[in-house]
Amino acid sequence: MRWVLIGASTIAAQYMIPALRAHGGEIITVVSSSSERGADFAVKHGIPRPGTDVQEAVSDADVDAVYISTTNEKHLPQALAAIAAGKHVLCEKPLAMSVADAASMVRAAEQKGVVFATNHHLRCSGSHRAVRQLVRDGRIGRVLSLRLHHAVHLPANLQGWRINSPAEGGGVIPDITVHDADVARFLLDEDPKSVVAQMTSSGLGQGVEDSAMSVWTMPSGTMVMSHESFTHPFAGSGLEVHGTEGSIFARNVMTQNPIGEIELVTAAGRERVGYEPYDLYGEAVRCFHEAAAGRGEPAATGWDGVKSLAVALAVREAAATGARVDVHYGDVK
Ligand code: NDP
Repeated sequence: MRWVLIGASTIAAQYMIPALRAHGGEIITVVSSSSERGADFAVKHGIPRPGTDVQEAVSDADVDAVYISTTNEKHLPQALAAIAAGKHVLCEKPLAMSVADAASMVRAAEQKGVVFATNHHLRCSGSHRAVRQLVRDGRIGRVLSLRLHHAVHLPANLQGWRINSPAEGGGVIPDITVHDADVARFLLDEDPKSVVAQMTSSGLGQGVEDSAMSVWTMPSGTMVMSHESFTHPFAGSGLEVHGTEGSIFARNVMTQNPIGEIELVTAAGRERVGYEPYDLYGEAVRCFHEAAAGRGEPAATGWDGVKSLAVALAVREAAATGARVDVHYGDVK
C-alpha cells in the first residue's frame, strides 16, 4: 500500500512511519505547510517526495491511502480532499472540531466507497483486548463500574498548540478524553448517554483546560469515571473494571507502548493475566490494510471517531456549564 502523509508531525515520526513500514506500507510523500520543515522531515525519514500542496499529493495516481496527523482543525478539509481523490484515509483523533464536521467526513468516505479509520490506538492494545475478553467472558460478573486513569505529564516537545491554542484544537479533552471515550465504548460495548464533569488549568493550559474529571452514565447503568491531565508527572495510568464477581486492575496501560500489567481479583484470589504485547500502531495499520483489501473493518472506524468526539465535547460542555449534558451523536450509525 502506498501512502501520503499529511503532517510533518511528532506522531508520524515517532510511531506511524515505523508502523506503516513494518506492515508493508510505502511512504511516497509527506505534505507540510512549510517547505523547509517538509524537506527536513523527508530527508530524516527517507521519504522521496516532500510537498506543500495537499491537493497535488492526494491526486497522485500512485497513492492508495492518506494518513492525516496535522493539528485538529486541519483534519476536515484534508480528509475531504483525500476522499474526493478516491483515497483511503486513516485520520488522527479527534477527527474534527465538531461532531457534525466529523460525521461529514465519514459520510463522504461512505459515498466514495473508501475506507475511513480513526487512529484510536488503545483498542489495538493487547492489554485492552485482554481486559475486554475478561469482561465478555463474564469473569467479573455484571459490570458495575469502570475507572479510567489517564492523567499524565505532557512532554516538553508537545507543549505547543495542545496547551495554548483553542483554534488548533488544544486542550486535554480533545486530546485525551477522546481516547478514554473510545476505551469505554470498546470495553463496555455501549455508548455513554450523559455526562457530568469538571475541568481546570493546573499549570500548563493557557486558554484551554489541561485537566478534566468526568462521570458518564451508560445505558446499562454501569458507572464510568474518567480523569485526564497534562500535568501529573507521577500519577501513572490505568483502568479498573469492577463487577459483581470480580475486579480487573490494568496498570500503566493508557500508553502508546505495549506495556503494563493486568490483574484479575475474584473470590478465588489474585491472578496475573497475560496478553499479546504487539505494537499498537502497527496493529492499527494491519487492520487498515486488511479493510482496504476488502477484509473487515479498521480497528476504529470513522463512526467510532465521531462517537468519541461526541463524548469528549459533551464533557467539555458539562464542565463549562456545570450541567449534566446528554451526549449528542447526531445521526451516527
Ligand atoms: P505536532 O505538534 O508534532 O505536529 C502537528 C503539526 O505541527 C504538524 O503537522 C506540523 O505542521 C506542525 N509542526 C510540527 N513540528 C513543528 C515545529 N517544529 N514548528 C512548527 N510547526 C511544527 O503534533 P502531534 O504529532 O503530537 O499530533 C498531531 C495529530 O496527531 C493531532 O491530531 C493529535 O491529536 C494526534 N495524535 C494522536 C496520537 C494517537 O495516539 N492516536 C498521539 C499523538 C498525536 P506541518 O505538517 O504543516 O509541517
